[in-house]
Amino acid sequence: MKTEIYEVEPGDYNLQDYDEHYKNFDWKEVEKAFSWHETGKVNMGYECIDRHVDSGRGDKVALYYKDAERNESYTFEEMKRNSNKAANVLKNTTDVAKGDRLFIFMPRSPELYFVLLGALKIGAIVGPLFEAFMEKAVKDRLENSEASVIVTTNSLVGRIPVDELPNLKHIVIVDDEVADQHIDFNKAFKEAADTFDIEWLDKEDGLILHYTSGSTGQPKGVLHVQYAMVQHYISGQYVLDLTEDDIYWCTADPGWVTGTSYGIFAPWLNGATNVIAGGRFSPEGWYSTIEEFKVTVWYSAPTAFRMLMGAGDELSKNYDLSSLRHVLSVGEPLNPEVIKWGYKVFGKRIHDTWWMTETGAHMIVNYPSMDIKSGSMGKPIPGVEAAIVDNDGNVLPPNRMGNLALKEGWPSMMRDVWNNRPKYESYFLPGGWYISGDSAYMDEDGYFWFQGRVDDVIMTAGERVGPFEVESKLVEHPAVAEAGVIGKPDPVRGEIIKAFIALREGFAATDELKEEIRVFVKNGLAAHAAPREIEFKDKLPKTRSGKIMRRVLKAWELDLPTGDLSTLED
Ligand code: ATP
Ligand code: MG
Repeated sequence: MKTEIYEVEPGDYNLQDYDEHYKNFDWKEVEKAFSWHETGKVNMGYECIDRHVDSGRGDKVALYYKDAERNESYTFEEMKRNSNKAANVLKNTTDVAKGDRLFIFMPRSPELYFVLLGALKIGAIVGPLFEAFMEKAVKDRLENSEASVIVTTNSLVGRIPVDELPNLKHIVIVDDEVADQHIDFNKAFKEAADTFDIEWLDKEDGLILHYTSGSTGQPKGVLHVQYAMVQHYISGQYVLDLTEDDIYWCTADPGWVTGTSYGIFAPWLNGATNVIAGGRFSPEGWYSTIEEFKVTVWYSAPTAFRMLMGAGDELSKNYDLSSLRHVLSVGEPLNPEVIKWGYKVFGKRIHDTWWMTETGAHMIVNYPSMDIKSGSMGKPIPGVEAAIVDNDGNVLPPNRMGNLALKEGWPSMMRDVWNNRPKYESYFLPGGWYISGDSAYMDEDGYFWFQGRVDDVIMTAGERVGPFEVESKLVEHPAVAEAGVIGKPDPVRGEIIKAFIALREGFAATDELKEEIRVFVKNGLAAHAAPREIEFKDKLPKTRSGKIMRRVLKAWELDLPTGDLSTLED
């Protein structure tokens, strides 16, 4: 397939010379941006918020919060006082202490962020849970982590099976009326002192416990430590291109790693103004958020871009989106078609970033100063070494598909899989390679190309086909809104390619259309990559963070058990 190459448009970015950075990079130098470089004692809550107050930027807006009912703004000074108050409430009403797991299970609101920062100031390990989780998902995570405190709301508390969770000692409710057996956050918050003695921690002390998205199986409890901030901070500058003058919006919920690493830590470590929008996705709501807050840097996901694309270009013309100077994507492969569309609507090329819960921060990205090869994830960030290796850890030459691997030792790497050390160890191969579970190849220019999850790569008539390439071709067809591709066992070909397709508004699911789409892939990609079977679906099974769950498609197709569905969208 012919690759579109988009040359860098330097005008908009704080020019970052990738090659120069990559050559001269040293994590130890980045540490010097923080005061703890001298003392060795650190606290993420302080570094995100209080540090800016101490250096005279307390009056700057830290947070714009908006949902259907509320539209509020908070300066760094106010965030400092509110997070101190939250820390006091938690400390006075529960016995939570350094290293304890404190979970947050509530819809987005300013209070969620006060509580999260307050818990960090106490030295607790925060476990954020997506508000849509049902009882089983909540129970699994609280049980696995042995959490002692959960902060929630009246609407969600019913999903916490308290009787089955012997370690859970305190339920804190953020709401107007609070039942007697629970702790009333709002009441205590009103009376709480706004100064707090921060718990100073070691670099390797716990920070956050994130459960993975569950795309490929049972979610894993991934532990990150304070030292990860070095990477959150510098990738915020290098990749998100953030400065203190930016108005930044990350659309991810803090229940997923993007919503904390890049929804909380990176922007605030860099002193940027952070926009947080509550409520559900709507194209109108999202465009108007960009317009209202004059968002300059925007970080979202392919599924959201595809939905905006589906809503039509006309709609976007009703909004002033000219404040945007940098748009980025994460979570799934970014289809070339979406980059093309993004340029039309935002006047910007969407920059893809690849990383995962376990890596804690960016790994392989389209650096602002780098030409974009449409469909490629880009190159490793400075301080990170990436390669394609075989199953024994041997590095493969360019253009060979294999395991996407990273050399151990970047700051934000997970330190453990909670209560499952063997699982943690299973990520590593001899030679210090961390194996991502994704399949990719590197071209002769050092750009990486995502092919699919290792388990999703299809072997058909002796050819290895990455599902992403087929899906990207499929969504180029005007009738196709979304596509998920799997390999289906076949006695002759080993596997055949089967595509599940959700059609765009206005297209009828006919056999003629199936044939037309098949021919479209055959002519545009390759005969062996054209799906032999196509099935139309109203919508595809996705995780709540918007990823297509191919393992569910496969299980349905082959009548196999579907496995853990706790993160499946309704
Ligand atoms: P689980 O590990 O529970 O199966 P998950 O892997 O989806 O779920 P996350 O850690 O949220 O959980 O997602 C990381 C994965 O998302 C990566 O391994 C990769 O497959 C995919 N991904 C993230 N960003 C990109 C990207 N830019 N391009 C392609 N794939 C991406
Ligand atoms: Mg994963």
